[in-house]
Amino acid sequence: MTLNNKPRIVVLGAGYAGMMTTKRLIKNLSPEEAEIILVNKHNYHYQTTWLHELAAGTINQNQVRIMIRDIINPNRVRLIYDTVVKIEKDDNRVILENSELTYDYLVVCLGYETNTFGIKGMDEHAFFIEDFDSCRLIREHIEYQFAKFNNDPNAHESSLNILVGGGGFTGIEFVGELVEKVPKLCKKYDIDRGKVKIVNVEAAPSILPNFDKDLVTYARKSLQERGAHIMEGTRIHECTEEGFIVGENNELIKAGTIVWTGGVTGSSILGKSGFDLTKGKVTVHGDLRAPGYNNIFILGDCAWVMDKQANRPYPPTAQAAMQHATTCGNNIRALIHNEPLEEFVFSDKGTVASLGVTDGMGAILGDKKLYGKAAATMKKVVDDRYLFLLGGPKLLLKKGKVRPF
Ligand code: FAD
Ligand code: NAD
Repeated sequence: MTLNNKPRIVVLGAGYAGMMTTKRLIKNLSPEEAEIILVNKHNYHYQTTWLHELAAGTINQNQVRIMIRDIINPNRVRLIYDTVVKIEKDDNRVILENSELTYDYLVVCLGYETNTFGIKGMDEHAFFIEDFDSCRLIREHIEYQFAKFNNDPNAHESSLNILVGGGGFTGIEFVGELVEKVPKLCKKYDIDRGKVKIVNVEAAPSILPNFDKDLVTYARKSLQERGAHIMEGTRIHECTEEGFIVGENNELIKAGTIVWTGGVTGSSILGKSGFDLTKGKVTVHGDLRAPGYNNIFILGDCAWVMDKQANRPYPPTAQAAMQHATTCGNNIRALIHNEPLEEFVFSDKGTVASLGVTDGMGAILGDKKLYGKAAATMKKVVDDRYLFLLGGPKLLLKKGKVRPF
């Protein structure tokens, strides 16, 4: 309890789960009922689902990030811009880089980190689509390779190549942006498009493993037709300064830009704080609380939430993170009011992926398949829906993707 006897709720991380939980708590509880604190590394929230666009340089960085205080009233919620170092869960305490905090209820929404599965050289030599800063760096690095090329007499054509390791949704959406960005960079820096290779390497027999076959076929064809090389059934064994070493014959594919999109795991803060982990995440109860801790909720990409019918975890998505936030906000209110808690039930709205600005594919409303412009527009509508839920019409007009005029 705080000095004025109000319970203190601390939310860690201002991504999809953290922002939407904070909004829900504001709605569910009066200022007299609880003190709410939101902790985040930066003073901005960013659209993780748009990071591939930021990395390729196909979107303005200011469209991707939103100042937290423009959405969350700092007179209602205490905003702390600091980095979480550890959760001391048996003492109800969070250690930040510059201070520490106690809590009555804790909501952990620290998102994902890139998983390199111990592949030799990957941490040292590859870029990651991990957060706002890592993606700005990729954008600048790619542009630098092009700017440098005609100024360096020793420059090798392979320095223009871009390698993307992993053909899951992040890798494929990133390649979709690259096939549109590279011709523009070639024009800008007087480079023949034929000199540049964009290569995606996927270990499974097909890109987007386990996704609908027709949609995968469409995505592959669309990317190939626009000049991407898709290498399927090809495992990356090692990453060196020069490129990836792949396949059974240990072939070296050279590139000046190497990006790893081969997998994600939950925040490393979970392990450092002594939570029991399943593949880097906490297996939560149906009400989204951590086992053994009745006052700690784990949401978004930090949570391992089982789909009991399919007997596998739900994939980590923004869609799920936002739904976790609703259940968590309701459950904290229920705890404060001594009411029964609700179980999390996932409502699957479908999956739509962009393949650049004007192409895409996906399935919505059960099994309705969308291709091409219709899918690309639907993806923008989904993105805009989130903006609307977060900041209403004002934010939608400021940052939205679908332009009515
Ligand atoms: P995040 O949104 O990642 O937020 C975590 C927050 O915690 C960030 O603000 C971060 O700065 C902060 N943080 C992290 N560590 C610390 C620390 N130590 N101290 C303080 N703050 C910290 N999902 C979909 O549903 N649809 C899509 O179209 C889609 N597209 C995607 C495209 C890309 C390129 C990627 C990478 C993912 C995509 N996803 C998509 C998945 C989705 O983005 C994630 O599942 C979602 O972001 C998870 O939300 P979260 O709130 O758990 O974490
Ligand atoms: P992922 O785990 O889904 O995909 C990683 C891919 O890398 C896999 O296909 C895997 O087979 C491949 N891979 C792993 N090791 C490899 C190796 N050594 N060599 C070659 N390939 C290798 O990760 P992701 O694409 O970052 O997606 C993370 C989560 O975010 C998923 O849940 C995804 O659904 C979600 N997401 C959704 C969207 C969308 O809905 N539009 C977009 C991006 C991400």
